[in-house]
Amino acid sequence: MTALILANATLHDCGRADLRIENGRIAEIAAGLEAAPGAERIDLGGALLVPGFVDGHIHLDKTLLGLPFQPHRRGETVAERIARERELRRELPGSVDERARHLIEQVVGFGTTALRSHVDIDSEVGLSGLHALLRVRESARELIDIQIVAFPQSGIIAEPGVKDLLDQAIRDGADLVGGLDPAGIDNDVTGQLDAIFAIAEHHGVGLDIHLHDPGPLGCFELRQIAMRAAALGLKGRVAVSHAFALGAVDDAEFGRTAEALAAADVAIMTNGPGPVPMPPVKRLVAAGVRVFAGSDNIRDAWSPYGNGDMLERAMMIGYRQGFLADADLALAFSLATTAAARELGLADYGLRVGAAADLVGIPTASIPEAVALHPPRALVMKRGHVLALHEPPRPAKRREGS
Ligand SMILES: [Zn+2]
Repeated sequence: MTALILANATLHDCGRADLRIENGRIAEIAAGLEAAPGAERIDLGGALLVPGFVDGHIHLDKTLLGLPFQPHRRGETVAERIARERELRRELPGSVDERARHLIEQVVGFGTTALRSHVDIDSEVGLSGLHALLRVRESARELIDIQIVAFPQSGIIAEPGVKDLLDQAIRDGADLVGGLDPAGIDNDVTGQLDAIFAIAEHHGVGLDIHLHDPGPLGCFELRQIAMRAAALGLKGRVAVSHAFALGAVDDAEFGRTAEALAAADVAIMTNGPGPVPMPPVKRLVAAGVRVFAGSDNIRDAWSPYGNGDMLERAMMIGYRQGFLADADLALAFSLATTAAARELGLADYGLRVGAAADLVGIPTASIPEAVALHPPRALVMKRGHVLALHEPPRPAKRREGS
């Protein structure tokens, strides 16, 4: 591959610079770099250049994108909403492959260069969704890196056969084992957690568990998860998604739960949800807990909202957390970039020499401004390939005589 120069980029820590991109990596960062003969030179016009966004939690198999807008089917409880989704799923035209591909193309346009997708595994669809996502992952590998979580959307104890399906899912290519409300869905905290941790330990993979169970019950489950992560040598390889409970307990309950999560390096994913309690991001980070961000549902049976824009998601998390200071907006930004990249184990991530050239240009002067405005992206690059490029706006030429 020939070298390419990204000129006139604004880097958050060192101002204006040029970057030389070679063989899919950042080869040099300096001022005044000259393009070699025949090499392309892209002038970013001072746009902010940041590493690609990482969506730490998405459901590629659930999206209805590409289909006519579907009215939301209401369910009062998690169990009712699961039932509504299973009804809808039976009626859908087209394939999971088509809809997932549609969503991938959309998120790539927003500058997402890696993601973690959960995929439903239950007694009805079996491993068909997983196999669809494995095909999509292969066909989209030039666009985006995809990690897959085998997700028991209808429970494990409550859904005969799912435990074996999860085990087979890892053999077939899923990267992590999922879980769902061990108390609320399976009514068996020990049963579900023992089952999924046994699969993870056996295959040497991590876990990412959906937890909507509220209050002290949810915090008890978080401590049970942390205890198993530490005991089974899975420190740093377990995440809990949502963990609403952390946002609705007293200081003592929060403190002992955050301490357990930090000690076992269990990370928390939040999408800045609607009118439910959400994990207090700054308090968790201060307690040593890793927090990262994801979109979660995008136009599916669970929500008509969402578009997969992780910069807008950072804004939504900051908005819900009352973040106003620049440092807090930068924290929200980090949840959708460096923190999510660390959770996904992306070793060559970042804006530094030697890192993968997964880069996004944003027409703002700083990261806090980017979060506040979340404007359309000026550039999206994956491993040195330009996937989207929009010329920076220039002043209109004044017409003669006007
Ligand atoms: Zn989810």
